[in-house]
Amino acid sequence: MKRIGVFGGTFNPPHIGHSRLVEHIRQTVSLDRLLVIPTFLPPHKASTDLASGEDRLAMCRLAFPDWCEVSDYEIRRGGKSYTVDTLTALKEEYPQDELVLLIGSDMMQTFDQWYRCEDILKLCTVCVTSRCEDGADIAAEKTPEIFQTHPLLRSALPPFEVSSTQVRALIRQGLPTDGLLLPAVRAYIEERGLYRD
Ligand code: ATP
Repeated sequence: MKRIGVFGGTFNPPHIGHSRLVEHIRQTVSLDRLLVIPTFLPPHKASTDLASGEDRLAMCRLAFPDWCEVSDYEIRRGGKSYTVDTLTALKEEYPQDELVLLIGSDMMQTFDQWYRCEDILKLCTVCVTSRCEDGADIAAEKTPEIFQTHPLLRSALPPFEVSSTQVRALIRQGLPTDGLLLPAVRAYIEERGLYRD
């Protein structure tokens, strides 16, 4: 049995916070593979400046290290990207393997509102990463009820404050994104004129 990490997100655009997360996971959680899966349409986000699936895929390929496998599964499928559907498809493809779904602590708090969240927990192990200095946001007392009966991996990632929303705002204003975006991603954004208006 292999352990396959699944890291989904809008990645609009992928930033250093995302790269730090996967590097940290590589060091703290034993995984055989890690799939990075950009969503086509995120179910719980209304984004007015969402770059195309093709552009977000291309940026993910530039942003994530080579040992990550960037998957076009959700972009290819189109429509709303429900995690339960993606995990079901992965489970059919890799029936013997354990799927480990990576989420940030912000996502953990709203997990019980995700579409068919109970079914998600039957398909995978969830690994939650903290987003505060002392890891208090992933402590047992902060863990929503739904996880009480399921194994939950916890990984304390020292915080790095950056979000795609912040990066898009900087780009819109023509400001530098040094230290927040990989230069190759910024170059791609400039070349394609993304997030300008
Ligand atoms: P947006 O600002 O557009 O909402 P985002 O920066 O939160 O985007 P997503 O693509 O929605 O990025 O994030 C995908 C995953 O990465 C989520 O599980 C989220 O918790 C995690 N994540 C995002 N930013 C960071 C960060 N700075 N450090 C650690 N994890 C992060």
